[in-house]
Amino acid sequence: WNSGAEAMYGHNREAVVGGVPFQLLKTVFPVSLDEINAELLRAGRWEGELTHKTRDGKQVVVASRWSLQHDNKGRPVSIIEVNNDITERKQAQEFLQQTQATLAHYNRVTLAGELAASIAHEINQPLSGVVINGNACLRWLAAIPPNLEEARDAATRIVRDGTRAGDVVARIRALATRSVPTKDRIDMNEAIRDVIDLAGDEMKKNHVRLRTKLAVDLAPVLGDRIQLQQVLLNLIMNGVEAMGASGKQPRELIITTQNDGGDKVLVAVQDSGPGLNPEKIEEMFAAFYTTKPTGMGMGLSICRSIIQNHGGRLWAVSNEGQGATFHFTVPQYQ
Ligand code: ADP
Repeated sequence: WNSGAEAMYGHNREAVVGGVPFQLLKTVFPVSLDEINAELLRAGRWEGELTHKTRDGKQVVVASRWSLQHDNKGRPVSIIEVNNDITERKQAQEFLQQTQATLAHYNRVTLAGELAASIAHEINQPLSGVVINGNACLRWLAAIPPNLEEARDAATRIVRDGTRAGDVVARIRALATRSVPTKDRIDMNEAIRDVIDLAGDEMKKNHVRLRTKLAVDLAPVLGDRIQLQQVLLNLIMNGVEAMGASGKQPRELIITTQNDGGDKVLVAVQDSGPGLNPEKIEEMFAAFYTTKPTGMGMGLSICRSIIQNHGGRLWAVSNEGQGATFHFTVPQYQ
């Protein structure tokens, strides 16, 4: 219990020597003390994060390193514990994470807003179908004698259209509601198809032709479905906007997936827009960098942090011919 410990915890040496540290400091352990002791006996050392209470009731988070000491017969006799105060670092990290989550949320809501017109159209179609088939169903039932076969077919179409409209709403809601990220086993091709469903009309409206080259043997990935779709949507919308602004033809967006030969899946979104200025490529990923009059410049920066949090990489290249390609990798589900 050196002077550093006295300063950090507010207890002086005389008051604590002979006491039990974890009782005094109300230690919160990341695992049980039994497990820590077992590890100490096995490996001779243990490292982890602990939460302590100081004398005046403040919480401190410490990076703790324990090492087991032996007597000359090799019997364990004592533990040396070294604690580094990382409270501020932890708070800064948490604040950063929260800020990133909030920004990512606004980015998703903004995306949903940009897609609103197309989505309304996506939903309107099945809804018209429901009305048409509902009327047809009533007519078949009113016939004398009622034509149950036809009525059943019409009702089946109502269920199909209703389900489709519900799916679109569910997808857009998932995107716009703040959700705690969860990592699951994800079929990237399927996630891409869902995004295409949402952005399809936007592409049509902008006269963008979409091609997909999705590997049939694509390995599943480990990731947060909504966040990965958010990345895809950002990249797709950026491509669509770049092509729209340049006025160049043809407007073609190609989405490719493949196993990268290692332990990752590689996704590429390629456009035929104006391409990228090689000197600006890294700047593009910085927060608030935008060349659009109404842009926020957060899209790529958020995409990059999402991909990095997944343990992957996101980068961009200018194509040989026309346009830009954005690539990202995500670890395969093991
Ligand atoms: P925003 O879309 O709000 O501008 P982003 O971070 O998504 O924010 O993009 C930052 C900038 O990167 C864009 O303003 C644009 O200049 C450039 N950019 C992004 N995607 C492309 C692309 N596919 N082709 C050309 N430039 C792009």
